[in-house]
Amino acid sequence: MLISQLLQRKGGNVATVAPSTTISEAVAALAAHRVGALVVSADGTSVDGILSERDVVRGLAAHGPASMDLTASDLMTAEVVTCSKEATTEQLMAEMTARRFRHVPVTEDNRLIGIVSIGDVVNARVRELETEAEQLTNYITGR
Ligand code: AMP
Repeated sequence: MLISQLLQRKGGNVATVAPSTTISEAVAALAAHRVGALVVSADGTSVDGILSERDVVRGLAAHGPASMDLTASDLMTAEVVTCSKEATTEQLMAEMTARRFRHVPVTEDNRLIGIVSIGDVVNARVRELETEAEQLTNYITGR
């Protein structure tokens, strides 16, 4: 399935924070949006970094409670792997597995147009396989 089709279903909303956002505010944003990662963006459309729950945990391990006063830019991953809407769910699944991350922002002309999580990709794939199985069953049983 194309990422454009997946985004049509889930929408293009992306939770973003500015690089200067404190980790304490970012943690509140992660909880409020019920997501596992925030795209760090100075203007809401550029992808300047990604801050996941895992970065916050690493920050806590390294700096203790003082990590809450650091900023998103201190703990984010700055080299972000993004994809286009022409990518497929199979490609993203392979990429996420190989690189061990669970989020890929989708961009067009270097602007953020969505984000795909491993949960989105797995859900889409399961639906596809269920439809395929149903079609095959119908074909075999002549329904
Ligand atoms: P995640 O599994 O997505 O919670 O992230 C695990 C680690 O990979 C964290 O250090 C993230 O900052 C980083 N990360 C998450 N998504 C990406 C991505 N698309 N490109 C680069 N790094 C990422």
